[in-house]
Amino acid sequence: MNEQRNNNNKKNYLIFALICVGLLLVFNAFIVPAVNKAKIKETNYSFFLKQLDAGTVTQAEIKDDSIVFEVNDSGDKKLYSTVKIEDPDLVERLYKNGKVDFTGKIEHENPIVTFIFSWVLPIILMVVLWTVLMRGMSKRMGNSMAFGKSNAKIYVKAQTGKTFGDVAGQDEAKEALVEIVDFLHNPQKYAEIGASLPKGALLVGPPGTGKTLLAQAVAGEANVPFFSISGSEFVEMFVGMGAAKVRDLFKQANDKAPCIVFIDEIDTIGKKRDGHIGGNDEREQTLNQLLTEMDGFDGKRGVVILAATNRPDSLDPALLRPGRFDRRIPAELPDLAGREAILRVHAHKIKTDPDIDYNAIARATAGASGAELANIINEGALRAVRNGRQTVCQSDLEESVEVVIAGYQRKNAVISQQEKEIIAYHEIGHALVAAKQKDSAPVHKITIIPRTSGALGYTMQVDEGEKFLLTKEEALARIATLTGGRSAEEIIFNSCTTGASNDIEKATQLARAMVTRYGMSSSFDMIALETVNNQYLGGDTSLACSPETAAHIDEEVNNIVRTAHEKAKQILRDNINKLRELSHYLLEKETITGEEFMAILNKESAPEELSNDLI
Ligand code: ADP
Ligand code: MG
Ligand code: ZN
Repeated sequence: MNEQRNNNNKKNYLIFALICVGLLLVFNAFIVPAVNKAKIKETNYSFFLKQLDAGTVTQAEIKDDSIVFEVNDSGDKKLYSTVKIEDPDLVERLYKNGKVDFTGKIEHENPIVTFIFSWVLPIILMVVLWTVLMRGMSKRMGNSMAFGKSNAKIYVKAQTGKTFGDVAGQDEAKEALVEIVDFLHNPQKYAEIGASLPKGALLVGPPGTGKTLLAQAVAGEANVPFFSISGSEFVEMFVGMGAAKVRDLFKQANDKAPCIVFIDEIDTIGKKRDGHIGGNDEREQTLNQLLTEMDGFDGKRGVVILAATNRPDSLDPALLRPGRFDRRIPAELPDLAGREAILRVHAHKIKTDPDIDYNAIARATAGASGAELANIINEGALRAVRNGRQTVCQSDLEESVEVVIAGYQRKNAVISQQEKEIIAYHEIGHALVAAKQKDSAPVHKITIIPRTSGALGYTMQVDEGEKFLLTKEEALARIATLTGGRSAEEIIFNSCTTGASNDIEKATQLARAMVTRYGMSSSFDMIALETVNNQYLGGDTSLACSPETAAHIDEEVNNIVRTAHEKAKQILRDNINKLRELSHYLLEKETITGEEFMAILNKESAPEELSNDLI
């Protein structure tokens, strides 16, 4: 690797040297003579003879093809040159004219001027050219011509001003990091027992769970230098440059020990080396250098490497082995208590009403990351300003939850009455199927106000507490609820619309996961038919089975959804009066709460409706 870099350097210096020599030659061959010649006036041979006869020529230099002579025109000395004509009497003429000194070379070149023009000026020009060129190049290529010198600016001591108090939830992660900070402050406490500091800790988790924030908090809490760099900053255009940067970073860190080095998004350089021909040489060299450097330094000196990634499965195993990143600190999506705490931390920065129910907001945001929760609080504050209020109230936050989930309200979307009716039946279909199944979460809110995400309406269900497991019954109930919208359209209007596309997608996804990953189907046992690729980034899957099995899976998925669909339709048929009543109510109100919904649902049906039902 070293050699590679040196080779690169050598090549560059060679080019530089060649340019220098070239420029010198050009100067000496053309420019210097030209400058000197400028002082010499060209004349014809007869002028020379005339001057010779007049006796004004004081010096003459006879060259191969020209004669340069000096004329003393009453004290004013001038230089002339003329072509040399084949003249056998020339020497005699000169000799006769005794004044001419024709043995010496005429000193018509000013030595200082010559020196400046042939040596100093070219060198100055070259240096200027070189700097301008380099500057332009490094701008375009991000410093790749800096010959392996890392840009020291990137590793500034961070002044983040963040502390662990700014990080809510994530208690396990905080605990692990607090220990590292403690070690840097009191190394002797650990040394007495003989414990050595973990060399590295890897923060893993989905985007927006506070990994970068945790590292910033460590920087704020540990009173030691903190070097922060993003993995992408090691990615260079030329092979070996990234490696040189790694080397430089660790050199700086070693000089400043005890200190912390934080590499964000380490997956950019830490990807598995797959041995493909024509693989990314530069990245592999950078990774190799990182591995070497992490082995190279002494854990007792107190250099701790923190790194963050949301793709731990793509990291090279060599990077993850003990002795390098021996600690893995998960930063998972926050649970109910965590969400509430995060909401409170961020609400601290804004003015709120005193009686805000953060727990309710936290319950409505299952699966939201810390970044999304921070965004919800900010959206709420913006809404308060928009409405001309001084403080943020509960409804601001509730509305902003929906903004984050489904986008802004499209207040002036024009939807025909007939379509509105279909949408109302669709949503009540979902809600009714949910309410009539015992394994389903309670309905929180139903609305038919369109949103910028494209949703024409939606039914929000909110669990009472935190759920960690999903039973088979709950999964089936959820699929039935998802098919409830389409079922209502079919029963009432005897046709179906495109409005169910999102429901279909979600129902299929869940049914598929039940068959391929959760072992919840009747025809397969506990067999993993699919593997999850990016656990933290969307969780896309790839099939791991024969084509025949794949066909069988599709059939099984179809069966699950079909059964759920039938069940939903049956529930709606059994409650058709409630379906109509609730839909009309929703059509009128546009948004109803879960309580309103349940009140109408639990109300005794009017007798005439009952008799209608019996007919
Ligand atoms: P990532 O895990 O993708 O690096 P960040 O650390 O950049 O996520 O988090 C983005 C933002 O989300 C933070 O600046 C912070 O405002 C908010 N946030 C995320 N997690 C938390 C948390 N646990 N406590 C408080 N704020 C958080
Ligand atoms: Mg980050
Ligand atoms: Zn729907």
